[in-house]
Amino acid sequence: MNGVENVLEVSGLTKVYGGLTAANNVDLAIPEGQVRALIGPNGAGKTTLVGLITGRVTPSAGTVRFLGREVGDMPAFKRISMGMGYTFQITSIFAKLSLHENVALAVRRRGGTTAQVDGEVRAALGEVGLGDRIEQLAGDLSYGHQRLLEIAMGLAQKPKLLILDEPTQGLSSGEVTAFKALIRGLAGQTTVLLIEHNMDVVMAIADHITVLNFGEVLAEGSPEEIRANGAVQSAYLGGE
Ligand code: ATP
Repeated sequence: MNGVENVLEVSGLTKVYGGLTAANNVDLAIPEGQVRALIGPNGAGKTTLVGLITGRVTPSAGTVRFLGREVGDMPAFKRISMGMGYTFQITSIFAKLSLHENVALAVRRRGGTTAQVDGEVRAALGEVGLGDRIEQLAGDLSYGHQRLLEIAMGLAQKPKLLILDEPTQGLSSGEVTAFKALIRGLAGQTTVLLIEHNMDVVMAIADHITVLNFGEVLAEGSPEEIRANGAVQSAYLGGE
């Protein structure tokens, strides 16, 4: 795959729940290496769209192409094995295992010798700033550190697309600063789709922003363009 191609291409994606259209004819294309933020007021359809992309939600209409391949009929686990990595709003770590063991579980899915796994575990934990806590039990970490551990587990899978669903929720301001630096450090190497409510984080780290409102793409553009967009401003003022 060359740098011009899109890692993810979503076209006409629609999800209808009874009488409610949670995603309405959504088009989205994320080029390789981009940090894309997906924002929108509560209930705009962000989680639904991520579910459609990852395969946890079945579309009513539309297509999802990942790495140039149509994946609409593919179950979630196959999309993961193709390189779609994600972390959820709810933490999914193993509390009784050490940080090292948690990340090793993610690394081992790709195979490798014990020494290689160990090296990659340490690298991933170092990247998120948990390099000095490798042998601690995950359950003993603060909530914010547990979220960072999850991101390390996502990164350890070396995903072609890393989807982060509200990663800064519950983080302290210091942890948010570290998170911003982490994602900026990934830009250009890892393609990221970030669902985020914290506008300060979005404006600081996104290359490009897609705004959803009532299931539809309301606007798309650079952080500056989105900040200046009147329709986006009124969607947020109306919604909050
Ligand atoms: P938030 O920012 O609050 O997490 P969101 O932008 O992620 O919201 P969604 O959770 O995707 O929005 O919800 C979009 C709309 O679809 C909402 O009106 C929600 O009630 C509805 N919805 C989501 N999942 C279902 C479901 N399984 N069945 C029925 N309606 C649903």
